[in-house]
Amino acid sequence: MNAFTFSRAGSIADALRDASGQAKFVAGGTTLIDLMKLEVETPAAVIDINRLPLAEVRATPEGGLQIGALARNSDVAHHPDIVRDYPVLSEALLSGASAQLRNMASTGGNLLQRTRCVYFRDTASACNKRSPESGCAAIGGFNRNLAILGTSEHCIASNPSDQNVALTALEAIVQMTGSRGERSVPIGDFYRLPGDTPQRETVLEPDELITAVTLPPPAPGARSVYLKLRDRASYEFALVSAAVVATINDGTIARVRIAMGGIGTKPWRNRDAEIALEGKPPTPERFAGAAQIILNGAKPQSGNGFKFELAKRCLVHALTLATSAA
Ligand code: SF4
Repeated sequence: MNAFTFSRAGSIADALRDASGQAKFVAGGTTLIDLMKLEVETPAAVIDINRLPLAEVRATPEGGLQIGALARNSDVAHHPDIVRDYPVLSEALLSGASAQLRNMASTGGNLLQRTRCVYFRDTASACNKRSPESGCAAIGGFNRNLAILGTSEHCIASNPSDQNVALTALEAIVQMTGSRGERSVPIGDFYRLPGDTPQRETVLEPDELITAVTLPPPAPGARSVYLKLRDRASYEFALVSAAVVATINDGTIARVRIAMGGIGTKPWRNRDAEIALEGKPPTPERFAGAAQIILNGAKPQSGNGFKFELAKRCLVHALTLATSAA
């Protein structure tokens, strides 16, 4: 592991003063420390932000919830307001990692979780995300768990997070602060497609800190579901997942929000698929049609073509669960 300086920030101003492209903030450390041991991440400075007052989950004046960036995944998953009003987020969090990891992992850190592409974590392999312009060993290599949507010729890595899929279906807002002040970005605009700069995964600048995630008020009468399909039942990343938030009125889908994981280079949402369902009765045929809209333009790689059919079945099942009990 490379030598680095370590400091503890006592305030947000402290943390921002030392922030730079050469520094990394650490909260739970469940991604960063692993990657430092592998020498995938080699920061010159590590800034511990665990003393900052950013762990609270509180109601917003608008009727939503603000989740502090340092709120631990387990605390969020079991928070009574989340369980009652945003069960899709609770289910997504509980489907990820292990209890020990969820006790450490933070909301902000999960937003920045790095890909599980095996070549990204192996410094002997070509990887444009880790080492720009070195190539992409996954294209034509082992890519079973990687993306079929939003890919480029430079990177096909999938976003591994469950939390971020649920937050996308909930239309969460990411709040950040930095030397130029505070700003809020809808989660759909927070993640960047890889294009020719796969090393840049989000719009977060090196001198910015995520402070919170805000959930809008829950849609009245909505039912939500997170469905995750994976190779084994626990402690495994999604091959495909679907987060659905749906409201049924008088036998028709009044409102639906869909996000999918495991298939995209970022949590994947396609508003056209939602529009195709809204105002219509829920049927398996319409669900399959929505899945087809999401998958239009998908580019399967040598080892992950199965995701096309798996994603369809996953979404049809998630939509069935979300609409049938309403
Ligand atoms: Fe690296 Fe992306 Fe290629 Fe994986 S898919 S090797 S992360 S460039």
